Amino acid sequence: MTAVEPPTAGIVAPDGINGFYEPVPEDNVPRLRRSAGTAGIASAELMDRHDHIAAVRAGRVGSMHSWELVTAVDGPGTRLTVFLAGCPLRCLYCHNPDTLKMKDGEPIAVEDLLVRVKRYLPIFKATRGGLTVSGGEPLMQPAFLGRLLRGAKEMGVHTTIDTSGFLGAYASEALLDDIDLVLLDIKSGDPETYRRTTGRDLQPTLDFSRRLADRGMPIWIRYVLVPGLTDDVDNVEAVADHVASLSTVARVEVLPFHNMGRDKWERLGMTYELADTPAPTAELVERVRGQFRQRGLTVY
Ligand code: SF4
Repeated sequence: MTAVEPPTAGIVAPDGINGFYEPVPEDNVPRLRRSAGTAGIASAELMDRHDHIAAVRAGRVGSMHSWELVTAVDGPGTRLTVFLAGCPLRCLYCHNPDTLKMKDGEPIAVEDLLVRVKRYLPIFKATRGGLTVSGGEPLMQPAFLGRLLRGAKEMGVHTTIDTSGFLGAYASEALLDDIDLVLLDIKSGDPETYRRTTGRDLQPTLDFSRRLADRGMPIWIRYVLVPGLTDDVDNVEAVADHVASLSTVARVEVLPFHNMGRDKWERLGMTYELADTPAPTAELVERVRGQFRQRGLTVY
């Protein structure tokens, strides 16, 4: 199996822990920070450094970038989408480069996040929606993710994760039991193109998708179509062949590339290699969707 860094490595690193704290306030009690990205979630938990490290390791505290309420994306119905911080991939087209480092997220107590989930129960019920955990990569924080999903399921909430699958080997059976739908991003069918696009290996994603299908778990596939990068006919054929072999794929979403993340890359001082890449033409998008449809898949 391809070697993968333990996903908890970033969680317990001293830098990550330091990044969670404000300077000690006048009353000498360290507090977890809040920011606009986590606005509306009252993380009032007080703890000392030792307790904080233990809480992160146990998954009682996670690192979150932001949240938003969305409809018709990220799963069925109206969703509370939570973006966790940290991702092991470096996709050339990433439109959330500010979510890539776990230490840049805000600390959040799982109980506080579940309070917000609970607040939206009537909306979830009315729209058949639920909770989606995205990122970054949600499986970077498997202990926190597991607690969050468990808490949501105890409230009867429909749960979804949006993942690249690269860290799928770190998802326990118990964690998967608490997921109703997986949005799986397969970024290429050709291993070389996958590496060029993400900096990582394709195989863990293929293995995870097979595991999900073997467990009978519903999957929505997402494929980002980038002219000159992921649009090669043979590359799409390889993805489509694999997806067609997964018995539980309910839909495929072909997502046309856009460079709206470019400004964020530049603000972060990162080089955006796709600056001159155009959006795919309607004909190209239709060709690629057709490659999936030819295999009997439902494509959007
Ligand atoms: S997997 Fe998602 S969050 Fe991670 S680098 Fe790729 S696009 Fe960005």
